[in-house]
Amino acid sequence: MTDALMPVYARADLAFERGEGAYLQSSEGDWYLDFGCGIAVTSLGHAHPRLVEALGEQARKVWHVSNLYRIPAGERLARRLVERTFAERVFFCNSGVEANEAGLKLVRKYHDATGNPGRWRVITCTNAFHGRSLSTIAAGGNQKHLEGFAPQVEGFDHVAFNNMNELRNAITDETAAILVEPVQGEGGIKPAHLDYLRALREVCDEYGLLLFFDEIQCGMGRTGKLFAHEWADITPDLMSVAKGIGSGFPMGALLATEKAAQGMTAGTHGTTFGGNPLAMAVGNAVMDEMLRDGFLDGVDRVGRTLWQRLQDLAARYPRVIEEVRGAGLMLGLKCVGSNADLVAELRRRRLLTVPGGDNVVRLLPPLIIGEAEVDEALDKLDRACAAL
Ligand code: PLP
Repeated sequence: MTDALMPVYARADLAFERGEGAYLQSSEGDWYLDFGCGIAVTSLGHAHPRLVEALGEQARKVWHVSNLYRIPAGERLARRLVERTFAERVFFCNSGVEANEAGLKLVRKYHDATGNPGRWRVITCTNAFHGRSLSTIAAGGNQKHLEGFAPQVEGFDHVAFNNMNELRNAITDETAAILVEPVQGEGGIKPAHLDYLRALREVCDEYGLLLFFDEIQCGMGRTGKLFAHEWADITPDLMSVAKGIGSGFPMGALLATEKAAQGMTAGTHGTTFGGNPLAMAVGNAVMDEMLRDGFLDGVDRVGRTLWQRLQDLAARYPRVIEEVRGAGLMLGLKCVGSNADLVAELRRRRLLTVPGGDNVVRLLPPLIIGEAEVDEALDKLDRACAAL
């Protein structure tokens, strides 16, 4: 009975009633191993006891107050994010697209505040994904997402991902910023080369541009560092975060240096729900878990095991899997046949995965998995590949 829903998703005929750790139980009573995490969201698994406790405790006190008042849990979470990153300022919102919208506004405001209002264009990459608002579909540049929504929001110049020559050639007097996903997610799990990320930092410094990383999918521990750009040992000027930051509670954030955020003064931006007490309680609990000694090293270790096992699988089934790519627990299988067929075959074997661009099956398990879940997933993958 989905008739009343606007049919913007092609949904599988499958509903889930409850979750526990890395598993989801369907309304038919079957347990599925969840290597999709609601598209890289439930980073600490389902019904994590400490998140449930934090949410319940806050729900009994107060759900919502306006940003017209202080929200101490938000001040604390912002401080903790600042302590762990390049950032000095944090803006909380409810989703990835809102974090990117806030970032795009910040970019214009920065150049306006520093006497360069003529700098407003943003260089973005082909095959990128930054959300579904009017400006972020223009930023992503995917024709499928733009179709029927003309006129397109102006101000985005697209260059090939991982190509520094093209990017340098695209810079003009009007360029304000470069927006890049350190690992392209929707585009099919494509990591930026670390030298490319370093070169982006250099070119931004050379031309006075803001470097804007979209870590909505690849951030919050997914690659084995708190944020993916840390692998390149460089820092952006601003970064959007969402998905895993609330592990299933809708939440996003824009992080920026004080310099980049200098124009964002009282009244320049806002949100009714962003940073509300429920979200902040869960966000702090997520940080408690992710900052525990050894948590991120564990993600890196399990990710490397999974990577190796997937390489072996790909070597056994070259007629099914062309390539394994990604980092940490953000991995992609580029398929020879249709990725949708492999996703469906895996779902029949009760392993949930997510299709991605470039004919890829995305494996985005919760960051709490261990060897047992890797064994089970590989067993299902093996059987699915054999069946195709
Ligand atoms: N940016 C990236 C890299 C994403 O992967 C996504 C969502 O998939 C978004 C932005 C948009 O986030 P949301 O769907 O929360 O608006």
